[in-house]
Amino acid sequence: MFDYQAPDNLLKDRIILVTGAGDGIGKAAAISFAKHGATVILLGRTTKKLEDVYDQIEAAGGPQPAIYPMNLEGASPKDYDDLASTIEKEFGRLDGLLHNASLLGNLSPLSQYDVEIWYKVMQVNLNAPFLMTQALLPLLHHSSDASIVFTSSSVGRKGRAHWGAYAVSKFATEGMMQTLADEEEGIGPVRVNTINPGATRTHMRAQAYPAENPEQLPAPEDIMNVYLYLLGPDSQKVTGQAFDAQ
Ligand code: NDP
Repeated sequence: MFDYQAPDNLLKDRIILVTGAGDGIGKAAAISFAKHGATVILLGRTTKKLEDVYDQIEAAGGPQPAIYPMNLEGASPKDYDDLASTIEKEFGRLDGLLHNASLLGNLSPLSQYDVEIWYKVMQVNLNAPFLMTQALLPLLHHSSDASIVFTSSSVGRKGRAHWGAYAVSKFATEGMMQTLADEEEGIGPVRVNTINPGATRTHMRAQAYPAENPEQLPAPEDIMNVYLYLLGPDSQKVTGQAFDAQ
């Protein structure tokens, strides 16, 4: 595991948006960020799941989170502008943005890859983080120490047969991170990095590896160190880098 010990109040007074916050790694990240003092904006497509995460954070005595239901597959630039306006009105700034939501799509050779699924995966995994980042950058510039984290994968660093649009979207995510990190470096306080979570016990992993015993994998809660490190002040000035959670 990534070697980092987060102090209890690491994220005190930070406003952090997590996409795909209703399940899997995004849910664990939202709960962990709140536990370390952050006010978390829970964004995802299934309101009931977001409400459950909200309740868990409240029950644990964390700062009151916000829920923002949004389906990244159909969202338009206007929807991202509305998101930015809401955050601006409510909080006036954004300190952290974790792009976590993704679709696996199909596992099949590119020669037979379903074109509709290709578009969907690219929309959720690549175009949505681009549109959201563009809309939220002004709010991140209002923070004195802002961090953007994109979620990658091992197949986004070395291609692997049959991983199709998912792998290609993750390679592009690494490219978007490097491009944005380079642009922001001269401007100010926004750092930009990627995390590859590594094999983790979630629905997506089970969908990709149905025969695997999930109990042998780390749970999302077990891989949070690198997420906390990159969203907190200890990673100030760390930018343009690709991290592994495990
Ligand atoms: P899950 O499938 O468990 O969770 C994904 C989350 O994203 C869900 O909450 C889901 O919402 C949300 N989501 C999916 N599509 C949309 C959409 N169109 N609009 C809004 N939200 C959406 O995945 P993981 O937790 O496993 O994955 C999290 C990240 O980690 C992903 O980027 C993935 O690629 C990456 N990753 C995961 C690995 C693993 O082993 N688990 C390994 C390498 C990378 P809902 O709950 O409503 O379905």
